[in-house]
Amino acid sequence: MIPYGRQSVDASDIDAVVEILQSDFLTQGPAVERFERAVADYVGVRLAVAVNSATSALHLACRALGLGKGDFLWTSPNTFVASANCGLYCGASVDFVDIDPKTYNLSIAALEEKLEVASRLGRLPKVIVVVHFAGQPCDMEEIGRLRRKYGFSVIEDASHAIGAKYKDKKIGDCSWSDITVFSFHPVKLITTGEGGMALTRREDLHQKMLLLRTHGITRDPTKMTGTKEGEWYYEQIDLGYNYRMTDIQAALGWSQLRRLDGFLARRREQVKRYNEAFNALPVTRPWEDPRANSAWHLYVLLVEGATDIRGHVFAVLRERKIDVNVHYIPVHLQPYYRALGFHRGDFPVAERYYEKALTIPLYPAMTEEQQDYVIKTVREAVSAAAAT
Ligand SMILES: *Cc1c(COP(=O)(O)O)cnc(C)c1O
Repeated sequence: MIPYGRQSVDASDIDAVVEILQSDFLTQGPAVERFERAVADYVGVRLAVAVNSATSALHLACRALGLGKGDFLWTSPNTFVASANCGLYCGASVDFVDIDPKTYNLSIAALEEKLEVASRLGRLPKVIVVVHFAGQPCDMEEIGRLRRKYGFSVIEDASHAIGAKYKDKKIGDCSWSDITVFSFHPVKLITTGEGGMALTRREDLHQKMLLLRTHGITRDPTKMTGTKEGEWYYEQIDLGYNYRMTDIQAALGWSQLRRLDGFLARRREQVKRYNEAFNALPVTRPWEDPRANSAWHLYVLLVEGATDIRGHVFAVLRERKIDVNVHYIPVHLQPYYRALGFHRGDFPVAERYYEKALTIPLYPAMTEEQQDYVIKTVREAVSAAAAT
């Protein structure tokens, strides 16, 4: 089976992990700080909090921004459920903004329209989670303009986009947002096994996320309400979690980060080959914003033609041992969200996109021969489906 995505772990990664296994720390220790520093320096931001998943990072980000009961969080329906669930964890109401048919990211026009209506009704969102889908940056300058106009906070769910650039700035530098979140799940661009990170420019948000990462417990006397009763003394001053990353994971992430630019270059070459190979097929190839550099986490084709032609192509490719996938089932169509009142038809652009979308294999360790096999098989499957 050729997977749609896969980690790439080499001897240098393994050595970095073994070194930690032989050291004094296994759970959060100096390797976590070293990894936080390295990612922050890489993207050009000052403050970072490493945690055990991007889902945890999104939750901490929402908590740090004060999201709670009675508040609204908006996000894109074309994302993994975690981008929306973080709002529900905090007791907030979640709503969605339909996507742009070209970028597959949240549509700026739809956002602006929805904000105008919400403003009149006094139901403006407190937080908007923008998702850089497949590694393609959202139009952050426009999002920043609307953020200033309407006063909401912005979290960038950059689970697909470490290393991506928008207007020559790396995603994660938080030029137009409050917090950016990365995922280090094995199918993402670099991995720690499980893991995530929240980055910010704001000291207050950083302090809050550090506190909530470890149960809401502090050992800093300046933050205590009482007086320190001895060296053993700590205080719980908020309700936090155990969202810590281990030093073992951080060592892997630190080593992987050194390889990231090589991974990105390889993905870019593979995308170029795909784009050329599918030029004459009845498919829509991914668009790349000329103002941005996608990190190319995913390569998504839209299979054009009759209804469910995509399903047909999908089945043929799976049968021929190519583990294609679909990103994403619109979040509002999940049974859990339907039970909250969402329906088919609520976000038609995301729904139409979903019916055609097909994610084909893209990962640095895919060989040229494997890619040639994918290309040949996709061509055959699409042509055969189009002829029926
Ligand atoms: C993978 C992913 C997440 C969740 O990441 P985890 O590290 O697995 O918690 C969140 N949002 C998006 C868009 C993702 O792709």
